[in-house]
Formats: sequence, structure tokens, C-alpha cells
Amino acid sequence: MTFQSYQLNSDIVRALEGLGYNEPTEVQAKVIPEALKKIDLVVKSQTGSGKTAAFGIPICEMVDWEENNPQALILTPTRELADQVKEDITNIGRFKRIKAAAVYGKQPFAYQKAELKQKCHVVVGTPGRVMDHIERGTLVLDAIEYLVLDEADEMLNMGFIDQVEAIINKLTKKRTTMLFSATIPENIKKLSQKYMNDPKNIEI
Ligand code: AMP
Repeated sequence: MTFQSYQLNSDIVRALEGLGYNEPTEVQAKVIPEALKKIDLVVKSQTGSGKTAAFGIPICEMVDWEENNPQALILTPTRELADQVKEDITNIGRFKRIKAAAVYGKQPFAYQKAELKQKCHVVVGTPGRVMDHIERGTLVLDAIEYLVLDEADEMLNMGFIDQVEAIINKLTKKRTTMLFSATIPENIKKLSQKYMNDPKNIEI
């Protein structure tokens, strides 16, 4: 199995080659074809499995460069993970010139506001600060088609459930949602049943 078989844009394939990603990891092989079909997914997988590229590759493939408002929103439990995901998306989308912004607490709001104001295709952030930007009108959700809940169990353990639900409620129902979690406890199952469209379960 190679990345060629997904018929990805040559800009994405070239970036993957540059990163030394020669073949998909298990989670990528299971997620990428479904994500490209815009099927909602609940994915049980650990950090280190290549899960970031599992959602990053299809998102970079599907993003329309011409659109000025963000098309994908990725929620993470921590600032560190938000920065890591932003970097991975930037690397995968390098030759397609995809721009990702990271927004999280304890960093000046004005800096993030400026980043969001420029053309920005993908927004990665922690739920509290993402909600702040939505409420202040600095993050426009009109064009969001993809939502990723990354490390969803951690996000709920950290008490972000209310913000996560508030954010989801502001998004169009016509979106594609992917949930990644190391464990799938009852609260994650409930969240997926409530907000996802007949999700397919993938276990690594
Ligand atoms: P993650 O689980 O997303 O944190 O990824 C773990 C590590 O695997 C990261 O350092 C990635 O750069 C790397 N990685 C992801 N996909 C691949 C791949 N297909 N081939 C080689 N390395 C990869």
C-alpha cells in the first residue's frame, strides 16, 4: 500500500515524500479512504500511530485554496498538541500553500486575531480560546466543513465538554466530523451519538 493509491493531489504526494512518509501507517490506511468520502469517523488510536496525518492528509487534500474563511476546525486538549498539529498540517499542505493557525490561551489574543484575519484554511485550537474567537467574531465558521476532535477523551477529562458542545452547536450539520481518542468511555460514545452522522468505528 502506498499513498499513490488514494489519488491525492500531486502537491500533497510531494510533501509526503519530502517528510519521508513512504507508506501509510495502519490508522492512516483505515482513515484516509473513508475521510476522503466524507464519512464521519470515531477512531480509537494512540498518539504515535500517525493519527495527525490520518486526518491531516484528507483535510489538506479537500481544502479549497481559494476560500478565504477557515474550512477545517481541529480541537485539541492542550496548547502543545495544537502547535504540533498546526506544524504537521503546514508540512503536509506545504506545496498547496495551505495555511494553518493555532489558537489557545495564555498567548495574546491580538496576535491570533491577526493570524485568523489573513487567509487561513485550517484552525487548530483549545476549546476555550476557540470559543472566545467565535464569540468575538474573529473566527468565522461559515465555511467550516470538517471538524476534528483530537484526543477527545483528554479534552473531556480536562473539563472542556461544555465548550466543545457549544462550538459544535455553532457549526453546520452538513460537516464531516472525525473523533480521535485513545479510549472510548461512555461520555465519548454519548458525544458521538449526539453530534455525529452515523459514524463508522475504527479501532487500531
Ligand atoms: P502522531 O501519532 O500523529 O503523533 O505521529 C507520530 C509520528 O509518526 C510523527 O513524528 C509523524 O511525523 C510520524 N509519521 C506519521 N505518518 C507517518 C508515515 N506514514 N510514515 C512515517 N512516519 C510517519
